[in-house]
Amino acid sequence: MNAAEAVNDALGALHARFADVRDGEQADYIPQLTRADPDDFGLALVSMDGHCYSAGEADTPFTVQSVSKPFVYALALSSVGLDEVDRWVGAEPSGEAFNAISLEAGTGRPANAMVNAGAIVTTALVPDTPESPAFDRILACLSRFAGRLLDVDEEVYASEAATGDRNRALAYLIRSTGTDYLDPVAAVDTYFRQCAVRVTAVDLAVMAATLAYGGVNPLTGETVVSAEVAAQVLSVMATCGMYNGSGEWLLRVGLPAKSGVSGGLIAAGPARFGLAAYSPPLDPAGTSVRGRAALGALSERYGLHLMRNP
Ligand code: GLN
Repeated sequence: MNAAEAVNDALGALHARFADVRDGEQADYIPQLTRADPDDFGLALVSMDGHCYSAGEADTPFTVQSVSKPFVYALALSSVGLDEVDRWVGAEPSGEAFNAISLEAGTGRPANAMVNAGAIVTTALVPDTPESPAFDRILACLSRFAGRLLDVDEEVYASEAATGDRNRALAYLIRSTGTDYLDPVAAVDTYFRQCAVRVTAVDLAVMAATLAYGGVNPLTGETVVSAEVAAQVLSVMATCGMYNGSGEWLLRVGLPAKSGVSGGLIAAGPARFGLAAYSPPLDPAGTSVRGRAALGALSERYGLHLMRNP
């Protein structure tokens, strides 16, 4: 068996092992998300030479949700730089749920860019001009990370816009702390659209691989962000990407990662690979149950933990 067959076999075996897991609940606070098939389960891995390996429903479209956050953080960092981003959003694990109504004592900043409050801020830091509106920049950036033109699931967008008062509350709270560059209505609308961008597990694996490859998309060869920005994003993913499950994830799986409520999950092996899973049922921290099990098992089986001396 050659190396490519071995990777495909490994993903196929993980898929078979976890496909029958029935734990977890699909998110329903965005009503349209309940239309996803809970049995869908896709896995994908993209290597630094641009090879893509997959198993199961790796080409099934779903909305990116919070897996957009590291990539929009990358865009904000590229646009205005770390010091300016850091003025408005921190880089400390919050130890709280993704949608916590909570800002840092003293500074009034959201704890980090992976929780909703911080993601609304990073979205608002993306330059917004009549010639190049913020959302167009975000969609173009996510598309460059994925290596193909992505689009928006308008029904999921409308569903979140109709029910997203908690995120609106966060945006108004952030502005009340003196963050007067932030227009709460515009920021949240752009954030909802960004969360409704449609991707597949293969797209997410390419996006994660681009971060792992120092900002260069291994499929297209395009430099999407600098190696410095890619490293900054992976750092915050490692400490904050799984919300109040981040410490436990780093302890057990040992890879920078990001989860989303539609069931998407990415993990990156710096200079090695991008990984993604899709399966809608979630654990209480909002992580795909099958995705978590599969990526955890893969890390354990192949010794992918970053802190490990091979
Ligand atoms: N759009 C979702 C929200 O803001 C994203 C949350 C998530 O994926 N954890 O609630």
